[in-house]
Amino acid sequence: MNLNAPVSTTSPDGRTHVFPPPMDRHYRVSAGRVETRSLEAHIVDHCNLTCAECCSLSPLLPTWYATPESVVDDLRKAVKVLNPRVFKLVGGEPLLHPQLVDVIRGVRTTGIAPVVSITTNGLKLGDMTDDFWQAVDALTISRYPKPSLAPALIAHIEAQAARFDVRLNWKIQDAFSSMTRTQPSDDIAEAKRIYHDCWIRERCHMIRDGMFYTCTRPAHFQTLYQGERDFRSDGLPLRDDAGMLDALLAYLQREAPLEACMHCYGGSAPQAPHRIMRRIEVDALKARYP
Ligand code: SF4
Ligand code: SF4
Repeated sequence: MNLNAPVSTTSPDGRTHVFPPPMDRHYRVSAGRVETRSLEAHIVDHCNLTCAECCSLSPLLPTWYATPESVVDDLRKAVKVLNPRVFKLVGGEPLLHPQLVDVIRGVRTTGIAPVVSITTNGLKLGDMTDDFWQAVDALTISRYPKPSLAPALIAHIEAQAARFDVRLNWKIQDAFSSMTRTQPSDDIAEAKRIYHDCWIRERCHMIRDGMFYTCTRPAHFQTLYQGERDFRSDGLPLRDDAGMLDALLAYLQREAPLEACMHCYGGSAPQAPHRIMRRIEVDALKARYP
């Protein structure tokens, strides 16, 4: 069986999803801005779960929060050249951010996208204030086999979403892509193939600390390796000048793989059932890195 053959599923809200999604490398420019599917900021690196193969590497990363000011600064530059359909606040677990409502309100002032969405495992949604529900437009809630969300919490989420007109996207996640290599590759030709075939680099555009990245992996590898390897140069510095649009288009259409692709199987990664790692396994994995 080809594990990477496209599989179509229907989510509880009746929407059909195809995985892996088809590639879409056609970047239209309108009014000086590149139209994209989405843009995201990972505002918390850590998480309250330890999923094996977390693509944000959260179980291996230290506690970290983005400041609302840094997210807004990056978006004020990004909005001049990017026009994403949705802006996503992601983590780690973004609901752990102590100034989450300030972050959402700050994002809104930049006008980066018509929809501001949060991607969460949902476990803390019962603790969120009405301010939070008022601020956000949409939630993507990952549903894992374990820990599953309690029926009372699901009912609360649905009631609050209806009350505050928040769109819910329940995402069944019973399998994860095993994207991270145990050892970095030194095969440039293979990295080129993986990068070329990688759908993630069109769908997971990310900003962090003054940089735009075509996928989320370089920023997290940068933290994981604590500067011992350079993944920051996988990104494009966000600038405020007339050459930024051309630089962005050239970056999005580049053919050279990223340094991060040497550490990643990207969209070609095999799938494995979702599972939570025990602390001893997390510690053993952490010991592989600086
Ligand atoms: S809930 Fe999401 S961010 Fe947290 S460990 Fe699992 S996959 Fe990673
Ligand atoms: S690092 Fe390379 S292979 Fe991995 S998701 Fe990003 S573009 Fe794809």
